[in-house]
Amino acid sequence: MSNQGTTSEIFTGIILQKSRIAEHTIHIKIQSADFSKIKYVAGFTTDVFLSNPYYNPHSVSREYSFWNYEPVYNIADLAINTFSNGEGTDWVKGIQEGDTIFFKEPSGDLVIDQSGENYFLIGDITALSHLYEINRALAVSKEVYSLIYAGSKEDVFPDIDHSFPLKYYILSPMDSRSILDLINIHFPKDGKNTVAYVLGDSENATAIYKFLKDNPDFDIQRIYFKSFWKKKR
Ligand SMILES: Cc1cc2nc3c(=O)[nH]c(=O)nc-3n(C[C@H](O)[C@H](O)[C@H](O)COP(=O)(O)OP(=O)(O)OC[C@H]3O[C@@H](n4cnc5c(N)ncnc54)[C@H](O)[C@@H]3O)c2cc1C
Repeated sequence: MSNQGTTSEIFTGIILQKSRIAEHTIHIKIQSADFSKIKYVAGFTTDVFLSNPYYNPHSVSREYSFWNYEPVYNIADLAINTFSNGEGTDWVKGIQEGDTIFFKEPSGDLVIDQSGENYFLIGDITALSHLYEINRALAVSKEVYSLIYAGSKEDVFPDIDHSFPLKYYILSPMDSRSILDLINIHFPKDGKNTVAYVLGDSENATAIYKFLKDNPDFDIQRIYFKSFWKKKR
């Protein structure tokens, strides 16, 4: 979350399409001529203003991942969760097709890294679109091991091409102990040169990151880790 007294360029786009794709996820398609200014890399994110920053210089923003980017017509897809029940949730519920949307120049530090042989893609539903985009961008020669954890099957949505390339697990309770057990059971211990992406709710993502970091059982050369949001107690 950030308050914007920013001088950086503000991009604008139009919401072409909005649809609910799972119990707690809304898909929006945005078209913006400003996208032609960027050199898109899979894993980019953008800070979306939740109100018009020209009218309200203190407009807050939320960061969302590109689920897909189509450069010919300058169209990006975002998948925005409604679990978190904060201002971002209110915003995505309220927007309509045809609305103008304001956001910062897309960029990212969770972008595609082709340097590994094996990949661990781990996260919750808020990170699913990001992990789908990384998975699609990886060279076909890479071995991908995935774990998407959710509280209900109704929360899981397919990738943009309607496929389910990542493995998901429905957990009750959805706690870090259960997730770490699954990693121990399903992820290879003998894989060499592994790159991991660990994204999602703060509590579980942090526990997974701590478990994998410097773990002698897994040869992980790099972990891309980010806490996306924090559950309200
Ligand atoms: C790199 C990145 C990519 C993201 N991509 C997506 C996406 O594609 N789809 C999606 O639904 N959400 C995504 N998020 C999460 C999103 O930015 C919001 O934080 C989340 O949706 C909650 O917003 P809210 O207004 O509904 O809830 P609120 O609870 O009102 O959010 C409060 C704010 O608190 C901040 N915050 C507080 N504690 C933490 C913490 N421990 N870790 C992280 N943030 C904290 C968040 O920045 C959030 O903006 C991403 C976050 C990051 C950092």
